[in-house]
Amino acid sequence: MRRSLVVGNWKMNGTKASAEALAKGIVAGLDADIADIAVCVPYVFISDIAQIVKGSRLGLGAQNIADKSSGAYTGEVSGAMLKEYGCKYALVGHSERRSYYGDTDQSVAARFNQALEQGIIPILCIGETLDERESSKTFDVITTQLDAVVNLTGISAFAKAVIAYEPVWAIGTGKTATDEQAQEVHKFIRDYLAAKDKTVAENMQILYGGSAKPENAKGLFAMPDIDGGLIGGASLDAESFLKIYNAV
Ligand code: PEP
Repeated sequence: MRRSLVVGNWKMNGTKASAEALAKGIVAGLDADIADIAVCVPYVFISDIAQIVKGSRLGLGAQNIADKSSGAYTGEVSGAMLKEYGCKYALVGHSERRSYYGDTDQSVAARFNQALEQGIIPILCIGETLDERESSKTFDVITTQLDAVVNLTGISAFAKAVIAYEPVWAIGTGKTATDEQAQEVHKFIRDYLAAKDKTVAENMQILYGGSAKPENAKGLFAMPDIDGGLIGGASLDAESFLKIYNAV
């Protein structure tokens, strides 16, 4: 039986004080041990939030990770640095990184690989744009995005990873995929993995992301191949984030 996972992506929001208050609110409200839970916070807050989550069930993650291990890569943060500060997870290939900061399928694969090298769990974000969906390219896009990583790391590496299906047209737009639309792609992802390694497929936590909120989380999480969520906007409020967690 797969355990569900709910991850908050705080993006570039908050101050040190508001980030600390948010983390404290989540830790204080966590009661039933029903699923895994984590927050991916801005780099500069990692050290402060690490102190707050210490000893709790709230995991810590980064929103990106360098595609190289160390050296002259100004502005990048390595997997070893993230590990030193207690990061358990790192998002890789979030659509905002792909569309605004030039991440390619190849650089995403290299970031995924760097996370694994440091024992950090990469949360590989994949998903199609509205144009791609409307021209029936969703499954081709998903296949290309997964192939790039599998070709670099091999399928067995996915045993220590998480996948987040995030239709780009649903991120931050208020438009959520229907339960059935999301399930269809999640099943496609699981079948893709199963064709290469059945055990990896069965154990893979595949999260849905894209305007998930307390009102729609229950329906999404009830789908057989949806194992939790990657939550942006609604993770900035402890109460909403915990409601989504409790919807598991
Ligand atoms: C995200 O940033 O990964 C995300 C899903 O954002 P939102 O929930 O705000 O759509």
